[in-house]
Amino acid sequence: MMEKKSVRRLGILGGTFDPPHCGHMDLACYVRDTLELDEVILIPTGDPPYKKTNASAKDRYEMVKLSVAQYEKIESNDLEVVRSGTSYTVKTLQDLTQAYPNARLYFIVGADTVDTLSSWYQIEKIFQLSEIVIVSRKGYNGLQKKIEILKSLYSFEPTILDEFVVDISSTQIRNRLEKHFSTAGLVKPSVEAYIQKRKLYTKNSI
Ligand code: ATP
Ligand code: MG
Repeated sequence: MMEKKSVRRLGILGGTFDPPHCGHMDLACYVRDTLELDEVILIPTGDPPYKKTNASAKDRYEMVKLSVAQYEKIESNDLEVVRSGTSYTVKTLQDLTQAYPNARLYFIVGADTVDTLSSWYQIEKIFQLSEIVIVSRKGYNGLQKKIEILKSLYSFEPTILDEFVVDISSTQIRNRLEKHFSTAGLVKPSVEAYIQKRKLYTKNSI
């Protein structure tokens, strides 16, 4: 008898993670549990096309590894960090499709990302390669309207999770670190220790 291969449902959370924060972890847990995913993989960008990072790709990846360490079914992956050239999501999804041929990919984005989605390289291919999961973000309103506009441009049916409210961003954390304010409760203690040790995000650090 032929063995039936079950489809693994993998959440993919890409980002600069500069630094990774508790909001990223809450988001990953929330989507994992709400959609009953087998796993969520955090993938820090190497060289992002649309924004500059503060910490190096290696440091950001190390911090993501520390962040996910205590979590069940949440992993990190360095494929964008080790890849040379610009990090394109479409390439990442193609690589993951090859690496996990029996998986269905759920590409997770926060509401702020919806504003830029239509300018992403080969966005239609991204929609073909993955299910898009759009999650609300505090301070980013009018999500339904923005999604309607995207739906009129592309054939895609995103999953919308609009009850997530966690008011943390990497920008806020970088601003606090620059002023030597505490980041307790905003990033994992292991990440706080790494930032201190490597003297990241303070003016004199680079
Ligand atoms: P920055 O302020 O540097 O942009 P960030 O907090 O937005 O950092 P990113 O690494 O840019 O973190 O985000 C990665 C992904 O996680 C994006 O899809 C983003 O929308 C989502 N995300 C991050 N924080 C939240 C949050 N608090 N609520 C919902 N989504 C979030
Ligand atoms: Mg961001």
